[in-house]
Amino acid sequence: MDSNNKSLLGKTIAGNDEFKVTDISSFIKEQDLKFCIYNTKSRKVEEIVPVTPGKIGLYACGPTVYKYAHIGNLRTYISEDILKRVLMMYGYKVKHIMNVTDVGHLVSDADEGEDKMEKSAKEMNMDAWEIAKYYFDEFRRDMKYLNITEPTIFTPATGHIDEQIQLVKRLEEKGYTYKTSDGVYFDTSKFPKYADFGQIDVEGLQSGARIGVNDEKKNITDFALWKFSKDGENRQMEWPSPWGIGFPGWHIECSAMAIKYLGEYVDIHCGGSEHVKVHHTNEIAQSESYLEHEWVNYWFHTDWLILEGNEKMSKSSDNYLTINSLIEKGYDPIVYRYYCLNAGYNKQLVFKWEGMDSAKTSLSRLYKKVLELKKSANADGKFNEKYTLQFFTSLFDDLNVSKSLGLLWNMLSDSEVNDRDKYRTVLLFDEILGLNLSDVKEEVKEITEEVKIIIAQRDEARRNKDYKMSDELRNKLVSLGYKVLDTKEGTKIE
Ligand code: AMP
Ligand code: ZN
Repeated sequence: MDSNNKSLLGKTIAGNDEFKVTDISSFIKEQDLKFCIYNTKSRKVEEIVPVTPGKIGLYACGPTVYKYAHIGNLRTYISEDILKRVLMMYGYKVKHIMNVTDVGHLVSDADEGEDKMEKSAKEMNMDAWEIAKYYFDEFRRDMKYLNITEPTIFTPATGHIDEQIQLVKRLEEKGYTYKTSDGVYFDTSKFPKYADFGQIDVEGLQSGARIGVNDEKKNITDFALWKFSKDGENRQMEWPSPWGIGFPGWHIECSAMAIKYLGEYVDIHCGGSEHVKVHHTNEIAQSESYLEHEWVNYWFHTDWLILEGNEKMSKSSDNYLTINSLIEKGYDPIVYRYYCLNAGYNKQLVFKWEGMDSAKTSLSRLYKKVLELKKSANADGKFNEKYTLQFFTSLFDDLNVSKSLGLLWNMLSDSEVNDRDKYRTVLLFDEILGLNLSDVKEEVKEITEEVKIIIAQRDEARRNKDYKMSDELRNKLVSLGYKVLDTKEGTKIE
């Protein structure tokens, strides 16, 4: 079935799984700490109890690869990364699946309009398959910049067309679907608890509906499982199916791939908050109709990053900032990670440049402090139990990272903790925070042309045994903040 698939991404892409954490699970067990998160399904903070003891299946809705990810998208991946790191620290072996949407996500989340991939291909006058590959690679680069650990595997939608068709066929056999002139739809009236998860006001939706928008749908909430290629549309991405040539609806990919790689029961499913009322509601309807039982135990949602004036950052408008925008403005992208860690993941975060400036200042203070500790910690320390306990207690309480960050600062200024232990504890905390604290180095000053000329003049003076001039030039370098060393190869500065 996938014979006409020209995907440059293949079926699955193994993530870089080098990331490991220190095993502190016995310490955690001794303290009897429970890891609790807010579960959108119950609207409560609940203790995580995995389906299989010791293991967590984690599914994260991934990027639609038709544009660069914006920093709002990346906020969501940062908080999912924190969740995963904390799960690992708690002692779980985490299998993390992230899909890559490289087909079928239409301009409107309600199955209307053009396919984002095809639209982007037309606008950029490029091949849609190449666009998917290009933006996927850029996404991985963004993840690296932000120290977001990669999933166990990335699973592109175009690598799983057959699985999606099989799922739709099964739903059809069970009587959940109907056909219209533009596709195969899921009949939401056949899934009585459809509105529960998202607390959807179906009547309200009905009365606000635009007349003439897909009149063939039986219910306002019905959604496409398979869409037909339109006559004359010349789609680059299309496949044969039992219903006609076309492409999968956006939601079906996540159900097909989550079930394939994580089995019939998923521990935790993640995404941005706008997915609650449409994408995740639809995923639940189709998966549970197929499986005939509940599917996901915990739903973890990160709230939006918004701009001042309550504007949501979105890829489909021009108001979006990317990692490149941050770099162009002179910020190391890791500053944005620090910025996000200061806000609760399930509250909206208003992006402000002043906030980025204070994050930058705090982070360089932190680097300076850690560097001092690195220099003075001349023997292996132990992690400080009091602060470690407090640090993890707040993380296990629905990921209160900003509180944990405050505890890190408290520990650093606590004169009762020695430098060796401080250094060890900071590195342990950074396994969660991901701020590259183990890599801090002395800042290397850029050697300007002016400095290079002074060095050359000084070397010339020394060759000519003009020690007066040589000393004058040395003083000049010292006044510019350098330490000057005389070596066999000539003047060296630090
Ligand atoms: P997309 O690439 O548009 O499919 O979205 C990727 C992820 O980013 C999804 O989990 C979205 O819910 C999430 N997302 C989209 N916009 C924002 C935003 N402004 N703030 C935070 N997360 C977002
Ligand atoms: Zn999804």
